[in-house]
Amino acid sequence: MPAFRSLDDVALEGRKVLLRVDLNVPIENGVVRDATRIERVVPTIRELCDKGASVILLAHFDRPKGKVVPEMSLAPVAPALSQALGKQVRFVFTDWQDTKAEEAASALKPGDVILLENTRFAAGEETNDAALAEKMAKLGDLFVNDAFSAAHRAHASTEGVAHHVEAVAGRAMQAELKALAAALETPKRPVLAVVGGAKISTKLDLLGNLTAKVDVLVIGGGMANTFLAAQGVKVGKSLCENDLLDTAREIMANAAAKGCKIMLPSDVVLAKQFKAGAESRLADAHDVGADEMILDAGPNSRAAVKAALDQAATLVWNGPFGAFEIPPFDAATNDVARYAATRTKLGKLISIAGGGDTVAALNQAGAAESFTYVSTAGGAFLEWLEGKALPGVTALYV
Ligand code: AMP
Repeated sequence: MPAFRSLDDVALEGRKVLLRVDLNVPIENGVVRDATRIERVVPTIRELCDKGASVILLAHFDRPKGKVVPEMSLAPVAPALSQALGKQVRFVFTDWQDTKAEEAASALKPGDVILLENTRFAAGEETNDAALAEKMAKLGDLFVNDAFSAAHRAHASTEGVAHHVEAVAGRAMQAELKALAAALETPKRPVLAVVGGAKISTKLDLLGNLTAKVDVLVIGGGMANTFLAAQGVKVGKSLCENDLLDTAREIMANAAAKGCKIMLPSDVVLAKQFKAGAESRLADAHDVGADEMILDAGPNSRAAVKAALDQAATLVWNGPFGAFEIPPFDAATNDVARYAATRTKLGKLISIAGGGDTVAALNQAGAAESFTYVSTAGGAFLEWLEGKALPGVTALYV
């Protein structure tokens, strides 16, 4: 990863900082239901204020598609943010065509914090319109991006603005980039990746990138069925992408050519119904009945992954081992997640996870807290695992 600058590299005293954050939080009846994302940006705001800057918060909410949609206003977020920060955050409505943002920004004093209305109310936000980016940039004299989760989009407030004003990474962005570099760019080897979840069709680029970068690739979840089928295993009624058997074979051949060991389940948990508490049985992966579905990995498979984790220095994890939402098919995900958490606590493993359902699965296992880093970024985390450049990050490179 090329170098990027952070708050450590710029003077902050007396500056007006445009701080891009992710405040796309769940709101019900005008009240914030989960403040996790709000809490993540508090340290950067606090540091900026403590160092004598004023802060203009830029954030999107939902998908108003370039129009003012009152139900998608960021107004309800300001009180929750004020509470988390312990100081008042003033909400400033703007339709991004008026001059309300300019007026509010010009009146700022050191330590003041304002939150501007949803950037996606502006027609030019998602098209990365240069005039809008310039209008945003002129509100302040330093752009700080703390929204890794929005960095895979080249929007005016994530990418365009950085071309018109000095741009650096905020603390949350910095932590995310550090964790990602530790996982795949300059990792401690051996690196083991777990890729699970439903289908390989949504993770082809990700699998392609990982086979080139990691030493061991553990494939779990529904997608393992497609790989088993590609090896001639009969998978009954299991979720399986029969049109991608050749693709699965190609991925295995590429992995072999790159020296990446692929691990598939050797034993599996089978059921005839996809529902909680469904009658299930344990079987060899080669012994799946025509009317049965593979819904989780079995104890031998789990033991093999845990033994591989004993040899690994770094773990990158995306996707569950089984249908983790419906017990008992959460067993393998819970077991391996807890083992990885223990290895991490012992200082033996650097563990980085994220994307889609992974955060929910690790939370459910009670393992997330002990992982080195769990990314809540979703799409941006997956695109990074795919090896793609993220425009919002690239814009910060020096
Ligand atoms: P993804 O969004 O691709 O990470 O997939 C997550 C989903 O895959 C979860 O909802 C799991 O229930 C589902 N899943 C994992 N393993 C299986 C399986 N063996 N059969 C069906 N669904 C599965």
